[in-house]
Amino acid sequence: MVILDGKKISNQIKDEIALEVSEMKQRGEKVPHLAAVLVGNDGASLTYVGSKVRSCKRIGFESTLKHLPEETTEEELLQLVSDLNEDPEIDGYIVQLPLPKHIDEQKVLMAVHPDKDVDGFHPTNFGKMALDMETFISATPYGIMELLRRYEVETEGKHAVIIGRSHIVGRPISILMSQKGKAANATVTLCHSRTKNIAELTLQADIVVSALGVPHFLKADMVKPGAVIIDVGITRVEDETKEKGYYITGDVDFDKVKEKASYITPVPGGVGPMTIAMLLKNTLLARERHRAKA
Ligand code: NAP
Repeated sequence: MVILDGKKISNQIKDEIALEVSEMKQRGEKVPHLAAVLVGNDGASLTYVGSKVRSCKRIGFESTLKHLPEETTEEELLQLVSDLNEDPEIDGYIVQLPLPKHIDEQKVLMAVHPDKDVDGFHPTNFGKMALDMETFISATPYGIMELLRRYEVETEGKHAVIIGRSHIVGRPISILMSQKGKAANATVTLCHSRTKNIAELTLQADIVVSALGVPHFLKADMVKPGAVIIDVGITRVEDETKEKGYYITGDVDFDKVKEKASYITPVPGGVGPMTIAMLLKNTLLARERHRAKA
């Protein structure tokens, strides 16, 4: 069994990007600038945004954090989005989800200019991704594809069962894995909460991508020997014995499933760090595109 070490691979990708950034600097070019918008003080969101900003520093990107209070109105947020769209200094930006309940998430994501949408959530970018066109691919599915590519995991002709159909993980990874190309050409089954007998499907799977957010959902008796297991889930489970008062776990019963798997991602240290690395890669791409247009 091989652990798909997202931490290691994401560090390699960051090193590769850092090298490109230092070459940009030597040529006297502007370096990529990523902005992150965070509304409110959700603990997990603060952690994610914090590590995105730290990663920018590490690789030599400029970064800006726009941290707005919980009571920010939709109008105020849309104004900030419009300002970021117009700001020539910013190459790409993300609006950290979830947004507070009084703000229409879709309205905000639709307002992000597709050329700066390094999260790849805008319909223009999602549509291009679905049509095999070059675009910003959402960082989490992009990270999964990159992990599979770098470990040369065979996907062609394999049966991939995806659990979860969200617009940011399950749906896009189901599209990407069924497309032509490297780490793709799989036959894909997409499951969700209305799917009957998920275990019957996962038992047929050569590759399982679990993205539902239910701790230890995927048990060893649901997995075929030799299967490749990608655990996207990140859930904070309260635990008073831990210093932070919680621990992080995935969707997979890791200790038992790893005994049957050929490859498996750990949580933490699997898909999570890859997501950040691919966001940085998208930001680099945004900078290159803006430079080409200038
Ligand atoms: P989401 O929007 O809540 O979607 C969850 C999906 O799982 C839905 O399609 C839902 O079905 C399905 N589902 C829920 N319970 C199920 C069940 N018992 N059986 C079968 N399907 C079930 O979640 P998400 O945003 O995709 O995130 C999923 C998990 O990945 C979360 O733990 C999240 O924290 C994590 N995540 C990790 C990263 C990373 O970087 N590693 C990035 C994003 C998300 P319905 O559509 O029928 O409701």
